[in-house]
Amino acid sequence: MTKFIFITGGVVSGLGKGILAASTGALIKAREKKVTMLKFDPYFNLDAGTMSPYQHGEVFVLKDGTETDLDLGHYERFLDQDLTGLSNVTSGKIYSSVISKERKGEYLGATVQMIPHVTNEIKRALFNLAEQSNADVLVAEVGGTVGDIEGLPFLEAIRQVRLDLNGKDVFYVHTTLVPFLETSGEQKTKPTQHSVRELRSIGIQPDVIVCRSRTPMTKQMREKVALFCDVGIEGVISLPDLDSIYQVPLFLEEAGYGEILSRFLGFQGEPNLEKWQDLSQILREEKPPVKIGIVGKYVGMKDTYLSVIEALRHSCLKNRVDLKVQWIPSEKLEGEGNLNLLLSLDGIIVPGGFDRRGVEGKINAIKFARENGIPFLGLCLGMQCAVIEFARNVCGLKKANSTEFDPETPFPVIDLLKGQEKVKRKGGTMRLGAYPCKVKKGSMASEAYGSDLVWERHRHRYEVNGDFLSLLEEKGLTVSGIYPKQGLAEIVEIPGHPFFLGSQFHPEFTSRPGRPNPLFDSFVKAAKRRANQSWKS
Ligand code: GLN
Repeated sequence: MTKFIFITGGVVSGLGKGILAASTGALIKAREKKVTMLKFDPYFNLDAGTMSPYQHGEVFVLKDGTETDLDLGHYERFLDQDLTGLSNVTSGKIYSSVISKERKGEYLGATVQMIPHVTNEIKRALFNLAEQSNADVLVAEVGGTVGDIEGLPFLEAIRQVRLDLNGKDVFYVHTTLVPFLETSGEQKTKPTQHSVRELRSIGIQPDVIVCRSRTPMTKQMREKVALFCDVGIEGVISLPDLDSIYQVPLFLEEAGYGEILSRFLGFQGEPNLEKWQDLSQILREEKPPVKIGIVGKYVGMKDTYLSVIEALRHSCLKNRVDLKVQWIPSEKLEGEGNLNLLLSLDGIIVPGGFDRRGVEGKINAIKFARENGIPFLGLCLGMQCAVIEFARNVCGLKKANSTEFDPETPFPVIDLLKGQEKVKRKGGTMRLGAYPCKVKKGSMASEAYGSDLVWERHRHRYEVNGDFLSLLEEKGLTVSGIYPKQGLAEIVEIPGHPFFLGSQFHPEFTSRPGRPNPLFDSFVKAAKRRANQSWKS
């Protein structure tokens, strides 16, 4: 029998509910239990694929190709475990399934209603994941904030679960904000009280309340929350802002949350927290800085390239350097003027993206990195830009481009595959999910991976045009990774450069704390070498 832990949030969004859910999963995994996770997203998009990363943060891609909310990335990283599309349930999926059942006549004449039809559909998704995953524990996070209209059916469904399971094996964790009022110089618990009251009015009594605040709460404050919210004092956990999200599991353990989970799970041994202890230890150490520039369209919105940053963090922790990210809006690099600024960087990343805005600036940055020996990592669009740059400036194909940006280009070095349809529908129509990639022996990629076959995740429509491959290779761009079935270029690199590599896939999606993605790891190693050199010179 699977046990269920539900995570809800109150007061405001952006409290780190996803990190709390992921940390809960990690603490359970540390107790030798099989755990899986689910995110309920109360929006009507079928999946996150059509949502702007500018508004909603990055689109995370699972190995089965499901495009999900970025919280799934946290779950995979904290659990060090791959999830499937069953772990992301949106209102869009629920309602579309209810409506399609109605059309098929599956409701046998009933009036189709929010309760029980929609709520049953939500519970079906939950129980289905529990069954398919065979997990001891399923941690489910409800997106949004208690009080949102669109979240109500999900809250009603998770309320019913306790009843369905006879009050057993179900646990509710609510996270709230405890703000600090500058004027009176004190923390305030009133918003927490209101939020819990709102939750209780729906019929959910939290077992644990995790209070987010800038600094730790006093015992008196926790007692106040306990009294007003009808939760034992040990169930009121203060989670202040920490330097790194990877300190959260250990912090929660020490705050008594682990003990509460042990009791719920009936676990008596000692949890294995070695991995989290090691990470916390490295985080505390003094480390030399490494400056990485990220040249992108959406810079400034930190969630837009979340997995890229996390992958960099994993590699920097492993290589014991302190990550300093410099955001560089690519449009600023469209003239020649600002390029010299890049010289002070130890490495440059051009991440993924869509549409032509800022592309010329990215191409300029790549040329500069290539010519000045600055370590460069191109991710998806970043790799495509590297191919365009090489075609233009090394192969002499001045007007080379991707047909995504210039459909009339005489040299379409990046193009849709022959027979691939022009894009008519946007949702779910890309090359998505994990594909195998054969790695060329003796290349930078093979040195990084230490393997000749790897699986990495994709999310794109365009590919390197096979017609130009022999010219590119002849002029010195090595294709070091190939998708064997179709002979598509997956990795390109420039031998002899300190580090110059682009991948058509997104290596950031498979990077984990303690186990960084090998391409990021090699890139950071090269950046560290450059940082050491400039330190000496
Ligand atoms: N826009 C490019 C394509 O569709 C790259 C996509 C990406 O970077 N994820 O192929």
